[in-house]
Amino acid sequence: MSAERLRPLFSDEAGGLHEADPGWEALGQSGANSLPLRSWIPLPRGATVMHLPHRVGLARPRGSAGAAPLPGWAVTAVLPVGYLRLLFPSYLDPPPGRDQTLPLYGYAAVAARAGQLVVAARRSDDFAPWTGARPSSERIRAAVEVLQRRLPRNRVVAQLSVCALQHGCLTAQNTFLRRHEGALPTSAACNADCLGCISLQSDSGAPTPQPRIPRAPTAGELIEVGEYHLSGAGRGGEGSMVSFGQGCEGEPLLRERALRPVVGELRRGFPRSTIHVNTNGSRPLALRRLIREGLDSCRISVFSFRQDLFAAYYRPRGYSMEEVLECARVARREGAQLTLNLLTFPGVTDSPEELELTLSRLAELEVEQLQLRSLNVDPHWLLSRIPPLAPGVGLERMLERLRRELPRLRLGNFTRPRRLGAGAVVGAGL
Ligand code: SF4
Repeated sequence: MSAERLRPLFSDEAGGLHEADPGWEALGQSGANSLPLRSWIPLPRGATVMHLPHRVGLARPRGSAGAAPLPGWAVTAVLPVGYLRLLFPSYLDPPPGRDQTLPLYGYAAVAARAGQLVVAARRSDDFAPWTGARPSSERIRAAVEVLQRRLPRNRVVAQLSVCALQHGCLTAQNTFLRRHEGALPTSAACNADCLGCISLQSDSGAPTPQPRIPRAPTAGELIEVGEYHLSGAGRGGEGSMVSFGQGCEGEPLLRERALRPVVGELRRGFPRSTIHVNTNGSRPLALRRLIREGLDSCRISVFSFRQDLFAAYYRPRGYSMEEVLECARVARREGAQLTLNLLTFPGVTDSPEELELTLSRLAELEVEQLQLRSLNVDPHWLLSRIPPLAPGVGLERMLERLRRELPRLRLGNFTRPRRLGAGAVVGAGL
């Protein structure tokens, strides 16, 4: 679509939204570069529009080559699940004393077109358990109370109650509702210190949207909740799924010893269920042992396959990219579903050298599904903490290459159960 008719937006300090006059062209940002906002969709339902306090928005006066400040703060949109951000907003750094790190959201560039809001994004997955209608808060509350009464001292239930009721976490809600992918948070510790960790921020000052489980639950507590969730599905757990490694915890593979009996018990009780782990990929041996107990699905988080970028983002303790690659190989060798969660950031993920390496790793590791998630982080803060990169080719061009060069790779956002129940719809990825 043409950028001609897009109007930049800015906000006043009270939050009032304003359109710039037609002499300005809307911009978005990729890495260090401001670019005209050319690829967009109407603002999807469920998106949240907000301003970026003390960050003056940038736009381009028509006919000029460079960006210039707008008369107000930058405006952005935070997208619902199932959408991929293409550009983040273009804005100036805040003045000293007003430079508190932004909360962990996936800020996307926005503009106005004929009075409607548009956003630099595209749909990236459509899978009913994630993108369909949400259960009512009354139904969730009632389901939480049922399990609280049944397991009043269970630490998993205590943690998931907060996640389901206060943080709106869908996998936590699913556990109580006994449907789809249910969360089983396991670990209070982590061997990484990710710049974008949503459960613990060690040095940014940004608030954490899903505070980490304070104490690790026992195997018995995890089994109780896992059995409760999976027995909600018929036929040995078909179509249902439990997952370790949630937003509100540390690294689940650090709890391999406690998890082995959990996985074994759930696999015996629910042979047709999917038992999944979301992991940073730091412990291949632990992953292999869990797969041999019955874990059959694995998603490894990847910011970059380059050691320097990997180290700058994960700040790993006691492991390196080599262990992450080995975890992927273990998953394939041992027959588990292998998906990667690529934490995308415009101007990083699509930087040419980065893209070439990602394509070759995906091919070599025979990844089944690539989940493209917009990295939730303060954009300028992130860029100040990683090595500089060559300008990105654009996330849409990256998607084209992924489709063309890796036709068997599924693209999307959400992990599918390995055995779907009767009448289940897999939904469309990208
Ligand atoms: S690996 Fe996960 S839990 Fe650990 S710091 Fe990174 S995001 Fe947080």
